[in-house]
Amino acid sequence: STDTLTYEYDVVVIGAGGAGLRAAIEARAQGRSVAIICKSLFGKAHTVMAEGGAAAAMGNVNANDNWQVHFRDTMRGGKFLNNPRMAELHAKEAPDRVWELEEWGALFDRTKDGKISQRNFGGHEYPRLAHVGDRTGLELIRTLQQAVVSFQQKDFREHGDYEARIKVFAEHTITRLLLDGDRIAGAFGYRREDGQFVLFKAPAVVLATGGIGKSYKVTSNSWEYTGDGHALALLAGATLINMECIQFHPTGMVWPPSVKGILVTESVRGDGGVLRNSEGKRFMFGYVPDVFRKQYAETEEEADRWYTDPDHNRRPPELLPRDEVARSINSEVKAGRGTPHGGVFLDIASRLPAEEVRRRLPSMYHQFKELADVDITAEPMEVGPTCHYVMGGVEVDPDTAASSVLGLFAAGEVAGGMHGSNRLGGNSLSDLLVFGRRAGLGAADYIARLEQDRPEVQDADVDAARTEALAPLEFEAGENPYTVHSELQQTMNDLVGIIRREHEVAAAIEKLGEFRERREKLSAPGSRTFNPGWHLALDLRNMLLVSDCVAKAALERQESRGGHTREDYPVMSATWRKVNLVCSLDEQGRAKLEHKPVPTIRHDLLELFEVSELRKYMTEEELAGLPGMEP
Ligand code: FAD
Repeated sequence: STDTLTYEYDVVVIGAGGAGLRAAIEARAQGRSVAIICKSLFGKAHTVMAEGGAAAAMGNVNANDNWQVHFRDTMRGGKFLNNPRMAELHAKEAPDRVWELEEWGALFDRTKDGKISQRNFGGHEYPRLAHVGDRTGLELIRTLQQAVVSFQQKDFREHGDYEARIKVFAEHTITRLLLDGDRIAGAFGYRREDGQFVLFKAPAVVLATGGIGKSYKVTSNSWEYTGDGHALALLAGATLINMECIQFHPTGMVWPPSVKGILVTESVRGDGGVLRNSEGKRFMFGYVPDVFRKQYAETEEEADRWYTDPDHNRRPPELLPRDEVARSINSEVKAGRGTPHGGVFLDIASRLPAEEVRRRLPSMYHQFKELADVDITAEPMEVGPTCHYVMGGVEVDPDTAASSVLGLFAAGEVAGGMHGSNRLGGNSLSDLLVFGRRAGLGAADYIARLEQDRPEVQDADVDAARTEALAPLEFEAGENPYTVHSELQQTMNDLVGIIRREHEVAAAIEKLGEFRERREKLSAPGSRTFNPGWHLALDLRNMLLVSDCVAKAALERQESRGGHTREDYPVMSATWRKVNLVCSLDEQGRAKLEHKPVPTIRHDLLELFEVSELRKYMTEEELAGLPGMEP
């Protein structure tokens, strides 16, 4: 079509967060030409907002740390639903990825003897998060962008064109992946500013689009996070796994209403902050589940000693994995022991001197001062759970990040498997680096094998993508996208939220069916020049598809595990642990589910755990033959 700008690349990376940039750098380093596409300005992605740090078992602060301990923590955190190969690669490779960042110019906080400093975080046995104050993601993105720029300078010297082999397309949204038979052939989208259509011809696409939070009302996510990559994958015929597993971060702001959901970093608790209810009680001591009892302090005295003497004391229960803390806060509020604005108190003021709070948590200090007029060095914060992260995502091969569609790769939050049913804080930044690099390599290797046989974009598919994108502009008097969006958010929040009940989830699925019909009639009349209603109408297709997967999987999994809590099935089931819920689209474009076995854990990895611990997760059959098992 004449009104579509056409580009040609080897690899198209959708997303310019940590995963996308790391993938792009790797593909370019392998000699491939790369386009990096992102919805917002270059440099503005969730990765930038990451505060706490990147988890990597470098052992700088506690020499007992190593990849095996990190692997163990990750599996425990994910309640053993993790893809064990991904958790292994991640634990082994994270230190190299952090050191590599330092080589590229990242300036991490240091220990007294000059090593990269590491901080404590929920679920991590040792201090493990490499960080830059509470602005780690900013430094990570700055460094990766700088690496992109150095490639561009190299290309300028060789080709007289900075963008000869790596180019950033900021403020572009991809709406469709295009296929040639069963192989990826390109991607279609529009420039947000003026609605100009764009076509990228490319044999390999890396999805690095991040999360889905905007389907929920209370969320830490920003406007871009409408599950686009998840939906693009589904529409191209790829599969998603375990979409029911959604992380509600325990500490979001609850007040004032305009900022409800904005994140309060876990570093506040990592650095000594404690949770109290309206009676002043540190209630988390009452919520330590059986599987974690051995690793957590039983008294406030022991918990407080842990900060200075972690080798001889156990961790405070405020640092349990996020799913546990979020559920506990939910229960306290429900029992009537919440704060005036429906949260609980997070207190750092009585725990650290004011100047220390300002030094360690500068962003938090400003966030509360500016948004809530609360001085966190003098008074407690009010916090409550907020939809934060999706563990579910594109089903990928652990080593190459390849999806089930040829030429389609996925890394970062949009990929599934790595975090099981619950992600540990800090494991995302490391995930982005480890699997971003692997996706870039995977894409480059795939192209090398194609040789001359490159797929072709079909004109009919481009026309169909155009027609689909234009529909909301042409509908004069239909549904308002803002109304449908806010009803969707309320539905997901109320009916498929942190605690799930069969009849509520079933009701949500019915509502989603109604939204689907209303989506056909979405109308955002006007021009294609910056028309946010039109953009939202297009994003809604994705949010509805993804929500359909989340709700159906939440109804199907009859157990509680990590980021999936069923009031009617409150315990973990060893049989369900073996099940990945795989989501694809049926002929009518609705989500359908299939059960697939979770990959088995190798014996050498199982042996990192005590059999008594494994028994809490696994069937006797699975454990047969392990040393320590009765014959
Ligand atoms: P993102 O960084 O989310 O980037 C996604 C990219 O995809 C963006 O560039 C976006 O514009 C683009 N995109 C999306 N859809 C499209 C489309 N249709 N077309 C074109 N481009 C598209 N994790 C940690 O490990 N430690 C932390 O301390 C931490 N703190 C966090 C704090 C906050 C407030 C939030 C929200 C998250 C935090 N996380 C943290 C989680 C972590 O930041 C994210 O999971 C991670 O950054 C995701 O990285 P990504 O590369 O997968 O995608």
